[in-house]
Amino acid sequence: TEDSFVSLLASRAARGPQDVFATFNGTPITFARLRQASDAIAAWLARRGLSRGERVAVMMRNSPDSIAVLYALAKTGLVWVPVNVQQQGEGLRYLLSQAEPALVLADVDFLPTIAACGLQQAPPIVASRDPAAAEDIARVAARADSFEAPVPKADDLFAISYTSGTTGRPKGVMVTHRMLAFAARGALLTSQARGGDVFFVWEPLYHIGGAQLIVIPLLCDVRLAMVDRLSVSRFWQQVGQCGATQIHYLGGLLQMLLKQPAAAHDRAHQVRVAWGAGLPAEYWQPFQDRFGIPVVECYGMTEASSFTTCNLAGVPGSVGQAVPWLSFDVRDPAGRPLAAGERGEIVVHARQPGAVFAGYYRAPEPTAHALRDGRLHTGDLGWRDDAGNLFFAGRMTDSLRVRGENVSAFDVEHAASSHPAVDAAAAIGVRADVGEQEIKLFIRLKPGAAAELADISAWLSTRLAKYQNPRYLALIDELPYTPSQRVMKHLLPADVTGCYD
Ligand code: ATP
Ligand code: MG
Repeated sequence: TEDSFVSLLASRAARGPQDVFATFNGTPITFARLRQASDAIAAWLARRGLSRGERVAVMMRNSPDSIAVLYALAKTGLVWVPVNVQQQGEGLRYLLSQAEPALVLADVDFLPTIAACGLQQAPPIVASRDPAAAEDIARVAARADSFEAPVPKADDLFAISYTSGTTGRPKGVMVTHRMLAFAARGALLTSQARGGDVFFVWEPLYHIGGAQLIVIPLLCDVRLAMVDRLSVSRFWQQVGQCGATQIHYLGGLLQMLLKQPAAAHDRAHQVRVAWGAGLPAEYWQPFQDRFGIPVVECYGMTEASSFTTCNLAGVPGSVGQAVPWLSFDVRDPAGRPLAAGERGEIVVHARQPGAVFAGYYRAPEPTAHALRDGRLHTGDLGWRDDAGNLFFAGRMTDSLRVRGENVSAFDVEHAASSHPAVDAAAAIGVRADVGEQEIKLFIRLKPGAAAELADISAWLSTRLAKYQNPRYLALIDELPYTPSQRVMKHLLPADVTGCYD
């Protein structure tokens, strides 16, 4: 269809007004309620004189109101700029000055954070969860105002979604309504969803990984079970209570669940699939053995509508095959496609129009770098097998040149993490006296673990090629993480004084 996904809300609400779209902490939100609340907020936004294409930054925790806000913005054609609620200081200032929103909607306790971030010209801010305010979002959402306006087109801008900033400044991915619909379809495909499924939603809406889930009850007969707080220790109780049949993971969620002591509720659930990204392959089988749930590992990014591949066939170590609306190949630095088994850059292209983004917001140079000949150069490394399964091998910026050899930081970190005392490892390139770079490896030990750097060095020397062995090792108490739990390597100190050498 050429209209936004949001056009489906009115017909869905008309067909089954009292059907449950989602529960939030156990309280049902019907389709009729979502329609009414989003209409009321949309009418209020229109009365404020905001017009299509203007940006509205939203710094709200998940709540029934923040869902209604997302739908209201989609209806009015305003552009949603989700702000990670952990943002503050320079990161927040950069994002707000880059996106230049005409309005900010924020939970009331974030107002001091926004005021303190150093914005030159602060846009108007409307609070939510503010019992004192006349125009609190919850109060607006409770009104019965109707909203009538043409629905945005599928290729209109829906959001500017900032990347995690793992490799540098976050970039504002221009996400169209169509891209969000592709992302939702990706979630349905990956999860092998069927009628009656209940999707457990713990992830914040300010990531596309959360936002895409908010759309899926419009596309098929499934329901969301949302919680405002993820508790690792109470995870299976929460999942069991809401009758979830689907769970989604990111970052370290499943590893954290595996670290919990075994308990009776480990299998007291109806979950059929755990799908997501970033779970190392050695955990797939232990997770399935303990919790009885197969893992479907995916690979993707906001720039390509969230899902590029998913491993439905369970190929060991692979992130799987391309979704039907995208294809990928692996290329050498000159842009030539490589054969199966050869490592290079993962390059993605759209098989259906609009499945790959059109650019970063107000950033021509990063856009030209990422999009060449209409193809998305992901900056990620990988290889494929003959059957078209992709294997992810880290980021290109994580590729180091040591004495004429290419070393993947990913491989070095992987070897270090297999040491029993090592909790996390991060490898960077530092200046070398001879040759191009030397490897410096940062190690965070497990709580209470004691290990000598000499032991870890010896451990690595039996597992890595000689040129892959780090020249320098350093212990670190805390690695600098993005809010999405990725190490910001550009912030790690590249000096080598005091390192284990
Ligand atoms: P920035 O682009 O600002 O440096 P980022 O790329 O970390 O930040 P995101 O858009 O949140 O921001 O993440 C997408 C990236 O996540 C991918 O390009 C890839 O490097 C990584 N990724 C995706 N899927 C997987 C996976 N299955 N395993 C490991 N890493 C993955
Ligand atoms: Mg990226």
